[in-house]
Parts: sequence; C-alpha cells; structure tokens
Amino acid sequence: MAKIKSVKTKLYEWTGPIVPPQPNFCTNASDPLPEMGGSGRDNMGSFRFHQWLVCEVETDDGTVGIGNAALCPPLIKETIDRYLAPLIIGHDPFDNAYLWEKMYRITHAWGRRGVGMTAISAVDIAIWDLMGKLAAKPVFKLLGGRTKDKIPCYYSKLYADDVDAMQREAQEWVDKGFTMFKSRFGFGPKDGTRGVVENLKRVEAVREVVGYDCDLMLEAYMGWNLDYAKRIIPKLEKFQPRWLEEPVIADDLAGYAELNSGPIPISGGEHEFTLLGFKQLLERNAVSVIQYDTNRVGGITAAQKINALAESYQVPVIPHAGQMHNYHLTMANFNCPMSEWFPVFDVEIGNELFYYIFKGDPEAENGYLQLDDNLPGLGIELDNAHLEHFRIIE
Ligand code: MG
Repeated sequence: MAKIKSVKTKLYEWTGPIVPPQPNFCTNASDPLPEMGGSGRDNMGSFRFHQWLVCEVETDDGTVGIGNAALCPPLIKETIDRYLAPLIIGHDPFDNAYLWEKMYRITHAWGRRGVGMTAISAVDIAIWDLMGKLAAKPVFKLLGGRTKDKIPCYYSKLYADDVDAMQREAQEWVDKGFTMFKSRFGFGPKDGTRGVVENLKRVEAVREVVGYDCDLMLEAYMGWNLDYAKRIIPKLEKFQPRWLEEPVIADDLAGYAELNSGPIPISGGEHEFTLLGFKQLLERNAVSVIQYDTNRVGGITAAQKINALAESYQVPVIPHAGQMHNYHLTMANFNCPMSEWFPVFDVEIGNELFYYIFKGDPEAENGYLQLDDNLPGLGIELDNAHLEHFRIIE
C-alpha cells in the first residue's frame, strides 16, 4: 500500500505579456464600488488574477498527483503548507473520503468556505490524480466511467466588446462547429438605462449570428442586483437564453430563488462551497443549473456528492471553467450534460493560465471534447514550455 510521503506547493506567477481587457468587458461584484468600474475604467481589476497554485502529493513509491487552485493562490499555498499537508502525510491516498473529512473538520472554524475550502480542493484533486495513477486508470473511470461517447462543450468567451467584434468572434466559432455559446454582459446598475440598451444590443447581435437553433447563455458574473435583474429579464426573454448566470452576488440566495421562478432559468454556484452549500441552493429552487468549480467547491470528493444530490432534484450540473478535473466529472456523470470550454488565448484575465502551466488539456473539436480511456489520473502534467514567463515560488 502506497502512503503519502510529501505535499509540495508551487506558486506560479505570470510575468509574461498581458493583453489589457477592453472597458466594460464584464460586470462583476465590485462594480458598485465608486473607485471601481466607472465608465471606461478597468472594471475587471478586482478579479483579474495572474497567479496559480499547483499542489503535488507524492506517495512513497514516487508517484505524484497534481492538483491546483486559482483562487487567492498565495493564501492557498500557506494554508496547504502549514495546515493541510501534515494532516494527510502517512495516509493511504485511497482513503480520500476520510482525508477530506479530516481536512474539513480540523480546519472547520476558519476553513469552511473561500480560501480554506479552495486549499482542500487543490489537495483533493491531487489525491484523485494520484489514485488514478496508482490504479493505472483515468480519474473518470474511478468516478463512474464513460457516460458519453464524447463531451459536448460550449464556447465560453464573448466578453462584452464592440458589437462588430462580438459578432466576428461568434461567427468564427459557429464556423468551427460550435452550437452552444456563452456571452458576458458589460453593463450593470451603475450604467443606468443606457447600459440596459447596450446590454440588449449585444445579446441581439450575438443571437443574430448564432441563430435560434444554437444555445446562447448569458453571464452577469454577480455584477447586477435583484432590482436590475428584475427589470432587464423581461427584455431578455425574447432572445431565449438557455440560462442567465450569476445575476446577483453569491450569498443572495433569496434573490436567486426569486429570479429562478421567472421566465429565464438561472444558473450559479461557481462561488458556492461543499455539499451543504448546494443543498441550500437546491432546497430553495434557487438555480436551474449548478456550476460548481471543482477547484473551489471541495475538490472531486465534494463534487461527486453534489452531483448525486443535484441528480435527485433533476438539476443538471455543468461545472464552472474548463480544465481536466471538471471534464472527468462531466464524463462520469449522466447528470452533467456538457462542459464549459475556453479557447487558448493570450493571457488576459487569468483563466488562460491553466493552458500555460499544464499540458494535456484536450482541444475541443466541432464543439466536443474527448478524454483518453488509457491515460491514468487526470491526464495533465506540468508544462515547461512557458517557464520563462513565470516566477515560481516554492
Ligand atoms: Mg460564470
């Protein structure tokens, strides 16, 4: 039986070129703050991140599992190094459910959500990668196996921009065979009625390109409030969005529940944590689509429990972001109909860093992703090709 010998963390900090985002690129939770998000300012400043945390868990036979986290990496590193690593060293990685519970309960007073749970997630993902490698099976084969020939995925970018630029981008990916698209709103309550008009203009323009035989999803990234959402939803209804994502801040469960009883299905959960967090969302009928992020929600161990709960409510789960840990869960669950997929782009807000740190992520073709039945673990490894653009803190 292999035992966990070491837990190492590395902070990857991007020092390479960055493409500055256009103004009104995407609404977000800090928009109402007067110093953020005024017209023409860099309203994405508070949520752009150019760091990533890599966690390597090694067993005494030399096998290494890789996990990661993108939320507040310096604090995740400190949390794993100082608190979580000592809790799992010496254990069998196949006792993952117990190890999760141990990390959760011993850090419970301060670690239940946010930074604490994201650190647990990174370790848990590394343990799953390790289990896959030790068992010589891809992680999805340990989770339930192949439920789909391939994974349908939606094109996720279309940040708010000039109408022409958004139409060109949508057309490019329609031409590449995609049939599902997600677009971001650039305007919120601070922009008044003029901003409502600007938002509607862009939805109409993207819909014009993709047509009504494709799915169009709309994303507010917590940049609105309940009043604004209630005023704009009747105007959006005619564009038949498949869902409206995170219209209000993550803690406003009553707001989600009220909006989800309206004409447009509401999605959310990428800023929610653990099984019990999602129990509240489901019990209140607050979302029609669950979008946990595996490297925040509690890792693959927690995600699988949420999958079972969501299935019992017949609420589909479509994990937030691309990335292998999410794809394996999507492949292994009937109730996960598709994946979010970001194209590889120059470094912009930070999501793209995954592609620069790791190699092995599948490229979507004609709107589908494939996982290898014979590649053990998650199927990613650290990529040395871009190291000149990273400062790495160990
Ligand atoms: Mg989102």
